[in-house]
Amino acid sequence: SVRLFATKKQPSIGRFTGKPDPATGKYTVSFIEGDGVGPEISKAVKDIFVAAKAPIQWESCDVSPLFINGLTTIPQPAQDSINKNLIALKGPLATPIGKGHRSLNLTLRKTFGLFANVRPAKSVEGYKTAYDNVDLVLIRENTEGEYSGIEHVVSPGVVQSIKLITQDASERVIRYAFEYARAVERPKVLVVHKSTIQRLADGLFVNVANELAKEYPDIELQTEILDKTVLNTVTDPSKYKDVVVVCPNLYGDILSDLNSGLSAGSLGLTPSANIGHQVSIFEAVHGSAPDIAGQNKANPTALLLSSVMMLNHMGLTEIADKIEKAVFTAIASSPENRTADLGGSASTSSFAEAVISRL
Ligand code: NAD
Repeated sequence: SVRLFATKKQPSIGRFTGKPDPATGKYTVSFIEGDGVGPEISKAVKDIFVAAKAPIQWESCDVSPLFINGLTTIPQPAQDSINKNLIALKGPLATPIGKGHRSLNLTLRKTFGLFANVRPAKSVEGYKTAYDNVDLVLIRENTEGEYSGIEHVVSPGVVQSIKLITQDASERVIRYAFEYARAVERPKVLVVHKSTIQRLADGLFVNVANELAKEYPDIELQTEILDKTVLNTVTDPSKYKDVVVVCPNLYGDILSDLNSGLSAGSLGLTPSANIGHQVSIFEAVHGSAPDIAGQNKANPTALLLSSVMMLNHMGLTEIADKIEKAVFTAIASSPENRTADLGGSASTSSFAEAVISRL
């Protein structure tokens, strides 16, 4: 079985502290179905959770954004739900391009202080990609860098966009990477940067890592220039199989898609976790796939594996393993049980049935 998240031990920060309802024994999880293919893949996840007898009850959240004083804002009932339950599963949200409002995804990260974006990328048996046995873990700083939203027009035709790096944000994500490496028993943390160019900003990120490494004598710290990591990952991803990579926001965003492409070959397979000190939100890496929305074609695996990461994060490891195994054996079994993005003929709902029959 492929383990997608810390299981036996949890990282000591960002730990889930929610409790089940004493009357039902079930945990309540906030559920954002999302746009485009969101409702279809959400239904698949819900059906599989019922069949697997997962001790979860869902609380639907409407996050249709409000714009208050020009700022994108999450509606209060959704904020209350997520703050109460401390955990959410989220479908993709469409971002209007160039509308001048901050994206809802970015707003969620800011609102709940989701500082670490964990993106595992693992090969899937039964679906051939460039490499077999890819097993990469990347943690992306999730709150600042080029995503700080500090941009202005200097003069006509000249725009300034500011990359913000702070000691505090660097420290919490790098500390999480060390803790995560311990929890998943990977011996190394690799900081990926471009301090040759961004001397002060990335220099600060690397310095923070060097300081923190003194607190983790059991984990080896390595640093590497982004260019080299990209080249190595493409030519021989096995170089990073015992490493937890951590990097500033933009590099992590791009590098993690490269990792997904190499291992899974389809965005329909890649899960992620957004970890905060109190709240964590789990989501597929892909977007709302408007080109196939409403056609019962979308692959629900990325959201399903995100839900597996969520269950592991909640300590519900047995049920997580059961669902994960069923997903991978369904994909490996035959092209009839694979969705079109994996070259198969299954629909979203028939794939869900194939998973359910393997639970
Ligand atoms: P996308 O990920 O939605 O789609 C890219 C391609 O991958 C499309 O061809 C799509 O059909 C395919 N694809 C994606 N998910 C799939 C799945 N589950 N099964 C099968 N095929 C799948 O990227 P995009 O088209 O650039 O973005 C569409 C919208 O989603 C945009 O508004 C964008 O801002 C938003 N978006 C949201 C998130 C998020 O909520 N985290 C992430 C990325 C993009």
